[in-house]
Amino acid sequence: MTKKIYDFCIIGNGILGSTLAWKLSEKLKNNNIAIIGPKNKFGSASVASGAMINVFAEIEDGFQDYKPLVKRFELGYRALKLWKSHHKEIQDKSGKKIQIKWGTHILNSSNGTQSEDSTFLYLQKILKNKNYKSKYELNIDPKNIEGVKTQHRERPIRSLKVEDGIVHSGELLNAIDIILNKFNQLDIFDNEAIKILVDKKNIHKIYLKDKSVLSSKNIILANGAYAQNLIKDNKDLTQNIPELFYGGGAGIDLIFNNYSNKFRKANFAEPKNAIRTLDRGNACGLHWLPFRGGEYYLGASSAIFTIPESNVRAASISYLLGDASKQFSPIIGRSNIKEIKFGFRPVSADIFPLIGETHIKGIWYLNGTKRDGLTMSPYIINELVKLLINGKSMLPKIFYPSRKLISYYNKEKAIIKAIRSISSKEHTHGMTLTDGGNYEEYYDRLKDEFLKVYQKHNIKSFGIHPELLPLYKNNLIKSKRSIK
Ligand SMILES: Cc1cc2nc3c(=O)[nH]c(=O)nc-3n(C[C@H](O)[C@H](O)[C@H](O)COP(=O)(O)OP(=O)(O)OC[C@H]3O[C@@H](n4cnc5c(N)ncnc54)[C@H](O)[C@@H]3O)c2cc1C
Repeated sequence: MTKKIYDFCIIGNGILGSTLAWKLSEKLKNNNIAIIGPKNKFGSASVASGAMINVFAEIEDGFQDYKPLVKRFELGYRALKLWKSHHKEIQDKSGKKIQIKWGTHILNSSNGTQSEDSTFLYLQKILKNKNYKSKYELNIDPKNIEGVKTQHRERPIRSLKVEDGIVHSGELLNAIDIILNKFNQLDIFDNEAIKILVDKKNIHKIYLKDKSVLSSKNIILANGAYAQNLIKDNKDLTQNIPELFYGGGAGIDLIFNNYSNKFRKANFAEPKNAIRTLDRGNACGLHWLPFRGGEYYLGASSAIFTIPESNVRAASISYLLGDASKQFSPIIGRSNIKEIKFGFRPVSADIFPLIGETHIKGIWYLNGTKRDGLTMSPYIINELVKLLINGKSMLPKIFYPSRKLISYYNKEKAIIKAIRSISSKEHTHGMTLTDGGNYEEYYDRLKDEFLKVYQKHNIKSFGIHPELLPLYKNNLIKSKRSIK
């Protein structure tokens, strides 16, 4: 065991752990700081993302009616305003160029459901809301969006453009790693934490895979969904903090293949900006992100696991490629696959973030950001640094980790949302009703199924987020202490 006592040990080297290590080291020149994380960043959501700086395109229909959703949206909105200077600072300090591009086309596709239509209309309303200033263009004819070329039955019926951008996640992570190497007081461990031991005298311990042990006054759990493993033997933590699940997701790096263009009459254009659909039930929309030199990122699949699968499911890749080729352009199917990326979104047991100090002094969470942690990173890290140093910040207290589960609206509304979400997901993946358009009967069937899940757990008013329903159905969720 090394005798050094760290002031701050950060476990996890994805976008959140790394950005925190940088910002904290910059502010605290005389403190001992450590970051622990394997060089290959296994399972990292940040590595698997493209990534979108996704704020408006990610909105949920009706979010303004529910405070926790507003608070969550605002983490992204505030981050959006910081991204330009954040990006410049990373480039300046690392000496590396990082591709970034502003403006995202959102398609409302004839392939979507009425739920997608109503989210599209809701987004138009939010864009005009004076509380959330941003650049946007309404009523863009989808025919005029460079890159979009669909078959008739998959055609977009309308589109708009929001300020949301894209940033090359690989370049971003590499550049921050370069910055980290510049701090003398920061120790970087290419290693894996296997256990933490909480100490009453506030000198906590971290056991590493290579059998070394670190001591620290503060431990920050920023290793995504894997954080659950580190606390599993500590009842005080497991019983008081919503558990974390593995939100498996895949994206594909593609390279434009000009070969087929040469021999066909049709000339498929490449996109100039990000093109995406809205939330389609349990997944961020389908998104196509153009980078330099004919390279694209296509994302993303989504499925929640209690134990991480070692690689992506074949069906996820088939859906991604099939849907995107039809709904964006056949150019996608004709591209070459450069790499398939797979990682785990940190998904908490109520879907809301877990950021701040736990009820145990010196044990902190920087976690649970699910599908927009990269977007939120500049804002939540700035605020967490303030909280770590001065004990005050703008981070919403409702997202502090030692808390009861936050209800998703209430039972009634959550069931309606689940019907919309699940039917949207099934529809996206090719479902057609045998009985023509008898959606009412289909919705009733879903409702009965969901009510049974609520009955099974004797839940009277708490609302379960649609994505977590399968975990409740299969008795895979433990943090139920606060649910009524
Ligand atoms: C396919 C996909 C697409 C996405 N697209 C977007 C997007 O477009 N925009 C967006 O904002 N967000 C997106 N997200 C979500 C976003 O990636 C996450 O919210 C964010 O990256 C979480 O960052 P993190 O640092 O908390 O976790 P991670 O990036 O998961 O990092 C955790 C790190 O901890 C390390 N680690 C694990 N266990 C240990 C241990 N025991 N000891 C030490 N280190 C350990 C891992 O190797 C990893 O490097 C996407 C996610 C996925 C999966």
